[in-house]
Amino acid sequence: MTARELNHLTDEQLLDMRFCDLSLSIEGTPLEHRVAVLYQELEARGLSLKPHIWLSEEWFTPDDVPGFAIPFYLAHPRLSRLERKQMLEVEGGTKRECLRILRHEAGHAIDNAFRLHDRRRYRELFGSFDSPYPDWYSPEPHSRDFVLHLPAWYAQAHPAEDFAETFAVWIRPGSAWKKRYAGWPALRKLEYVDRVMKALAGEHPANESRDRVEELPEIERTLRDHYENKREHYALQWPPDYDRALFRIFTTEPGLNSAPGAAEFLLRHRRTLCHEVAAGTGVHQYAINQMVLHMINRCRELKLNLNLKQDHTWQQLLVTLTVQTMNGIHSGYHRIAL
Ligand SMILES: [Zn+2]
Repeated sequence: MTARELNHLTDEQLLDMRFCDLSLSIEGTPLEHRVAVLYQELEARGLSLKPHIWLSEEWFTPDDVPGFAIPFYLAHPRLSRLERKQMLEVEGGTKRECLRILRHEAGHAIDNAFRLHDRRRYRELFGSFDSPYPDWYSPEPHSRDFVLHLPAWYAQAHPAEDFAETFAVWIRPGSAWKKRYAGWPALRKLEYVDRVMKALAGEHPANESRDRVEELPEIERTLRDHYENKREHYALQWPPDYDRALFRIFTTEPGLNSAPGAAEFLLRHRRTLCHEVAAGTGVHQYAINQMVLHMINRCRELKLNLNLKQDHTWQQLLVTLTVQTMNGIHSGYHRIAL
């Protein structure tokens, strides 16, 4: 299957394909330039490491490898479209977002290249790199012990993520981290990264492994299996509890002649609501969409109708969904490890 042939396949045909039959590459795609920008940023800081990069199912840096994987869907516009349709968003799809994740992964790569996690001060500041990866984490949105970089307070997921996020904030050109984090306990982590990276300038990595893990040609799974697992992983796990909110916003009285029913209204505004809540909370749109679909079914069961003006209804739904999402975060948010 050549890259050009992918354009002619339907979604169903694509989903039946196996990763090993995709034959994609980074060269000649916008990813090539984005990786070059990352390499320039590392070089500008005097760091000689150029992490090796390959395509796989998701973003990840394997243990003890000074390089990382980029998801397949960023290597072809047809697959980005499929990702959006399956998951409602494309993580790393814009240049800006892609560079954010590249900087984060470069943090893991440099950690592995110099085995920084074995250092005493690293363990004191970030915690133990070897502590098991949690299935889910409950971030403290107001904590000042962690930098803010990727969505959903990702630095709080694990000590290794805390380091990678701190590195990403430190390396971003024009980051002004000293000012931005003045007075935050997280500043000590940034100062540590600053000190260590200056000392590593021009140094040769101790770990020069070029291992690639789960590269596309090795993966015999189909895209359909991949998306089934991914959707299950992102689904919110807590029991939603918003009936009272629905009764406050909507009514069981018959609706006005021209006003849509509650379910219809939600369906019509699902996209903007999911987008706004995702932007405000950092939770994946897929998870929020699941909640809206759940809510739509509930509105149908309860036969609810519009009671307020439409823009007021929209605002009230935004608040309700945001509160429910934050409750979901506090009962443990499942996120794919980056
Ligand atoms: Zn990570």
